[in-house]
Amino acid sequence: MEKEYRQEIRRKQEKQLKEKEQLAERARRAKSRQVVIGPQGKNKLFVLNLLDNCPQCGEEVESSQELREGHLASCNDKSKIAAYARQLKEEKEKSEKKRKLKEAQDEVQNAQSWDYLGGRTTDLWLVCHQIMSLVTYFL
Ligand SMILES: [Zn+2]
Repeated sequence: MEKEYRQEIRRKQEKQLKEKEQLAERARRAKSRQVVIGPQGKNKLFVLNLLDNCPQCGEEVESSQELREGHLASCNDKSKIAAYARQLKEEKEKSEKKRKLKEAQDEVQNAQSWDYLGGRTTDLWLVCHQIMSLVTYFL
């Protein structure tokens, strides 16, 4: 029983690892394809109703091309624009923190399972491999 349980854990971990690698690979490919949209491009998307909020001040504007062009032309409230930039930055930092926390949890879980498996060196690759793939992912 015990042995089967351990094998089950290992199978699960290997499966998770593979899935994670596939996701990372997909993310890498998507990243290389990604086109960075500058402020001009964002304004264009906004005018074309492809963005809900003004890319500068974050205000929601009715989906009429005329109104939106008008808004952009008069969108120069510096404090509002700065506040929106801060808000975007905070949201980005929050999601980044969440992602890092999730990764740390995964790592701990992996290390704990490794402990349970008896901490044999043959299983160490699971932990190492995951750390290495994380490292290369961030390079
Ligand atoms: Zn605006």
